[in-house]
Amino acid sequence: MRYISTRGGVQSVTFSQAVMMGLATDGGLLLPESFPAIDDTTLQRWATLGFKELAIEVMWPYVGEDISREELTDLVERSYATFDHPEVTPVVEAGDRRILELFHGPTAAFKDVALQFLGNLFELLLERSGGHLNILGATSGDTGSAAIYGVRGQERIDIFILHPHKRVSPIQERQMTTVLDKNVHNIAIQGTFDDGQRIVKELFNDLAFKDEYSLGAVNSINWARILAQVVYYFYAWGRVTGGDVQQQVSFSVPTGNFGDIFAGYVAKRMGLPVQRLILATNRNDILSRFVNTGVYQLGDVQPTISPSMDIQISSNFERYLYFLMDESSEQVKTLMAEMATSGKLSVSEEKRREVESLFFAAAVSEEETQAQIAETFRTSGYILDPHTAVGVKAAENFPEAICLATAHPAKFGDAVKEAIGQEAEPPASLQGLMEKETRCEVLEAGAEVIQNFMKTTLVDK
Ligand SMILES: *Cc1c(COP(=O)(O)O)cnc(C)c1O
Repeated sequence: MRYISTRGGVQSVTFSQAVMMGLATDGGLLLPESFPAIDDTTLQRWATLGFKELAIEVMWPYVGEDISREELTDLVERSYATFDHPEVTPVVEAGDRRILELFHGPTAAFKDVALQFLGNLFELLLERSGGHLNILGATSGDTGSAAIYGVRGQERIDIFILHPHKRVSPIQERQMTTVLDKNVHNIAIQGTFDDGQRIVKELFNDLAFKDEYSLGAVNSINWARILAQVVYYFYAWGRVTGGDVQQQVSFSVPTGNFGDIFAGYVAKRMGLPVQRLILATNRNDILSRFVNTGVYQLGDVQPTISPSMDIQISSNFERYLYFLMDESSEQVKTLMAEMATSGKLSVSEEKRREVESLFFAAAVSEEETQAQIAETFRTSGYILDPHTAVGVKAAENFPEAICLATAHPAKFGDAVKEAIGQEAEPPASLQGLMEKETRCEVLEAGAEVIQNFMKTTLVDK
């Protein structure tokens, strides 16, 4: 499989190149040239497979020319051995509601499904090239810890994660700073998450620095992250239908950067019988407004109790736009230019109807989120985390839909306690965090300060 850019300005690249490139060099996002078509017989067979076997089948056509079957098998085995559930991503029932639990990885949020895989994949590709990568990222909480757990202990990678000092939850802070491997560098900046993002952007724009230090990113624009997430849509369909290809299912997806739900779109394009994709947002509703009005317009980010979805610009949205615009890079470029100059883009009513035929979108308020956690607990005893609760509420008129559970409820204890008066029992990975030794550097929120810290740290190693 070869990969092309949504903006059409890059010669097609291999899977490994796409993974190492992250963002395409023309500013667009990378996509496979075509989607493998999965026929009914194959779907039926896939429905009988365990998660890891299935992951190998789903990923194979996308990686096959670059990575051997043995290498892929080894990557998948190692990436999902760190999950604390034998099914990796089990489908469970909460009363009448089906829940796809994606939080059994080492940091108790769904980002582990992709980042455990990406970390091992980076290692394989760097061993081949003999290179070294310095990952740099800013986090408001979840992504940082999942990325750190994805690459901890690796010889050919150093990871620098900036988080706003004292502005992430105590659990999130501990999840990052208790990882003592010598390739992990936590930096608490004296500023906000936005300051962190600004610094990271500035350092990536310093092309001399970026080249000399081989800076790499782990945000959700990386194609390998999307690919790893496609797997659980197939898996959940198989568990629920038993492989009956006549049965379509819908999925409700708590959405921020449009990565997770785009993976569902890819699954559908490959032939998975998907009826609707329910796009659930909190009050940061740029995406649900787009589905319902055809206008994609920036607003201010408002903090919520589902903070991993407090996003205005959805970095994967351009991938969907490319298909909506009939794979025309020219149209994508025009729309993205419009977005850059006016903070807004819009599509025709005809296109909007096309969007609506697959996606149903709803924005869920803070009160509704709390009420959903309480309601589900009252009727079934199951505890939803606030992100998952947004998805369950958005799917209220789709009782059959499978709701993706993106975080363990113990990770967002305060919001859960407020809703039901008690906290969820933490999984082993979240226990004892407060007693563990930590390592973290507190630094001023300036690009030069961070750059100097990186240089000295890397020289000393
Ligand atoms: C990142 C995240 C999301 C949003 O996923 P996207 O792929 O950005 O749409 C939802 N819930 C949780 C818990 C997350 O960490």
